[in-house]
Amino acid sequence: MAEILVLVDHVDGAVRKPTLELLTLARRLGEPSAVFLGPGADRASEVLGRYGAQKIHVVDAPEVDGYLVTPAVDALTQIAERTGPAAILLPSGPDGKEIAARVALRLGSGLITDAVDVTAGPDGPVTEQSAFAATYQVTAHVTQGVPVITVKPNATAPEVAPAEPVTEKPDVTFGPASQAVRILSRTPRERGDRPELTEADLVVSGGRGVNGAENFALIERVADALGAAVGASRAAVDAGWYPHSHQVGQTGTQVSPQLYLAAGISGAIQHRAGMQTSKTIVAVNKDADAPIFELADHGVVGDLFAVLPQLVDEIERR
Ligand code: FAD
Repeated sequence: MAEILVLVDHVDGAVRKPTLELLTLARRLGEPSAVFLGPGADRASEVLGRYGAQKIHVVDAPEVDGYLVTPAVDALTQIAERTGPAAILLPSGPDGKEIAARVALRLGSGLITDAVDVTAGPDGPVTEQSAFAATYQVTAHVTQGVPVITVKPNATAPEVAPAEPVTEKPDVTFGPASQAVRILSRTPRERGDRPELTEADLVVSGGRGVNGAENFALIERVADALGAAVGASRAAVDAGWYPHSHQVGQTGTQVSPQLYLAAGISGAIQHRAGMQTSKTIVAVNKDADAPIFELADHGVVGDLFAVLPQLVDEIERR
C-alpha cells in the first residue's frame, strides 16, 4: 500500500488536533506516514502512532525551526521524491497552504486547498470543497502528479487506530532560499483556557448586535459554559470590541467546528465564507429576516441579551 504523507502541525512536539484528523483521513487512502519537522519528535511519536502513523520521517535540522516555510518545503519535497507517496496531506492554515503550494509546484503536481472531506476514488483521492458561501459543493481530484491536498480543521473526527511507527531520519539538503527569512521570536497569543479558534469543536461568535466590548463578556460566558472558542464578526472587530485574531470570515479565520453559534450576526457573505462549513449552525438574532437564518440549522428569533443568559443557565443546570 502506498504511503500517504501527512505534515505534522505541532508546537515543540505537542501535536495539534488537525494532524490527528489528517492521519484519520490518510488511512482511507493508504498507509499514513507522518512528516515531523523540528524538535520534539520523541514527545510526538506516541500520539502519532495511536492515530495510525506507520512511519515517522523526522527532520530535526536547525533550519526547520528557525526559518519560515521554505525549509519545510525542501524537506517535504525531498521526502516525497524518495518515497513516491500516493498523496500528501497538510493542514489548511496559512503555513500549510503556502507549503502545499510550493511543494506542488516543485513536484509538478496538482494542488487542492481547503478540502472538507477526502475519500479514496478509482483515480486517487477525491475531495469535497465548499465554495461561494456554500452555494457550491465542489468534488475534485488531482489529474497530474502526487495529489497535494490541504484539509480544513474539523473536516473529520480523529479516530484512534494504534500502530507502531518506524522512525526514519532522512537527510535533507536545504537550498539558500530556505534561510532567507529567519524567525526572531515567537509570542503565543493570550487566550486563557479557551480552545484555539481554528481547532475548536465549538465556536460561539458575537457580532454588531452584541453592542459593545463589555458585552462580549456574555459571549465568553456562553463559550466557557460550552467549552468553546470565541469568534467575532468583522463589524465587532472593527468597532474594537474584540481582537482581530478572533475574526471569522473571508478576511479573518476560517472555522469548521461541529457547532457554530452566531449571536447578533446578520450573516453577510464575507462572514459566511469563514463558517459555512460548520457541521451545525445555530443563530440568535432579533431580526427574523436576517440572512444568517438561511444558513442556520437552528435559529432563535430574539434578543441575545435575553436568550443567551437562559442558554447558560440551562447548560449549567444539566
Ligand atoms: P450587522 O450586519 O450589522 O448585523 C448585526 C445583526 O445583529 C443584525 O442582523 C441584527 O438584527 C442583529 N442584532 C442587533 N441587536 C441584536 C440583539 N440585541 N439580539 C439579537 N440580534 C441582534 N465580515 C466578517 O464577519 N468577517 C470577515 O472576514 C469579513 N471580511 C470582509 C471583507 C470585505 C472585502 C468586505 C467588503 C466585508 C467584509 N466583512 C467581513 C464585513 C461584512 O460584509 C459585514 O459587514 C459584517 O460581517 C457584518 O457584521 P455583523 O453581522 O456583526 O453586523
